[in-house]
Amino acid sequence: MHFNRRGMALVAALVSALACAPADEPPPTTDHRAGAPGIGDTDFPKDGNGGYDITQYAIAIDYTPTSKRLIGVTTIKAGATHALSTFNLDLAGYDVREISVNDAPATFSRQGDELTVRPAHPIDNHAGFTVKVSYSGVPKPAVGSNLGTYGFMPTPDGAFVAAEPNGAKTWFPSNDHPADKALFDFTITVPVGLTALANGEMVGQPTTAGGKTTYRWRESHPMATYLATATLGKFELRQGRTPGGIPNLAAADPRFTTSLDRLFATSATITDHWATVFGPYPFGSTGGVVDDYAAGYALENQTKPLYGGFHPDESIIAHELAHQWFGNSLSIKRWKDLWLNEGFATYAEWLWAEHKGTKTAEAAFQQLHRRRANDPIWKYPPGRAQPVDLFNQSVYSRGAMTLHALRKAVGDQTFFALLKKWAAEHRYGHVTTDQFITFAERTSGKELSALFDAWLFQPRRPA
Ligand SMILES: [Zn+2]
Repeated sequence: MHFNRRGMALVAALVSALACAPADEPPPTTDHRAGAPGIGDTDFPKDGNGGYDITQYAIAIDYTPTSKRLIGVTTIKAGATHALSTFNLDLAGYDVREISVNDAPATFSRQGDELTVRPAHPIDNHAGFTVKVSYSGVPKPAVGSNLGTYGFMPTPDGAFVAAEPNGAKTWFPSNDHPADKALFDFTITVPVGLTALANGEMVGQPTTAGGKTTYRWRESHPMATYLATATLGKFELRQGRTPGGIPNLAAADPRFTTSLDRLFATSATITDHWATVFGPYPFGSTGGVVDDYAAGYALENQTKPLYGGFHPDESIIAHELAHQWFGNSLSIKRWKDLWLNEGFATYAEWLWAEHKGTKTAEAAFQQLHRRRANDPIWKYPPGRAQPVDLFNQSVYSRGAMTLHALRKAVGDQTFFALLKKWAAEHRYGHVTTDQFITFAERTSGKELSALFDAWLFQPRRPA
């Protein structure tokens, strides 16, 4: 997201032809080559793409639940990180009707979930460019991660959209990896009577014409593709602010309206509480959505955690809202570091119970530590999440235990100062496990490599 836009390729080409590039700009490269089909995550070699960085998505979809037909136009603003002859986007399924780059028709080809775009004019290094993709078809949710089914999932009255780790490509062409965050605008058109809920805040009032209603949403803080949502269907809403003043929106499917008031109030209380523990809330609004879809999980969709087919309790709300800091504001650069999201959010569940006086974090830690020596969490080192088993329980439980071990080693005062400082220093950015270890040592003034090695990387129960 640090790309400095220097104008369109056409301008660059003209400047190049006149051989009078301003002295402060590097001369345009003529060494155009194909952008890589992956962003460089060796565990997920085809996820994301190389050669560019996306700054903004504008996603416009029209979805009809009865036919399950999605018509989409996604416009992407990006910057080249090397001179590009072609570049890839990730898209699963759909008929691609038309692609343009900087308003000029582009040619394209497809192989699996890789969409390769050849612009009419090659793109110079550092040049900003705009890609517009028009597509349509019936969404096919992704399967295969141990989250089960994910992505854009049709429901009887709409769609449940939860895309971790790489299901954004089931509804919009993207650089589908958390290493490339961007800003998002959503324009979602649905049959009248349905509500569409995307990330961030609603822009203007919904407009209805010809039996369809269009909702506009904007997420104005950087967001990973897997956190983007366009959950839609029949919903009852509660809107207001948290006592601390943060805009709050809760939504529930008609089957879950008995949860609506509690979701609204609990999300408000917990968001405000986490702001005192983790530092200022990073986004423009908070809340949650309960849909009538038995996904078997909840996902921390940015500003709008999504709960799939159950009445969420305080613990899971505490977990998903803690992710707004750890996972969403601070994103991982590689999936192997997933404990930086899930260990922190699980520890937040323990902190919430401690805050409520129902159970101390120490009691939760001891309860897990007593598990027999051959319990799977001891064999699975959480510091290196495995691509075929990303959401392993160890990444959650032993990840949380790692933080508790750190807390005991450095003391409460240092530990809680460290949590806030970590969230502040990397706000809206990317983090790695190595960075966290170095940071914890620097902040506490203690040598912690043995502690982190035992808790994160050894296939046995730490003493
Ligand atoms: Zn989580």
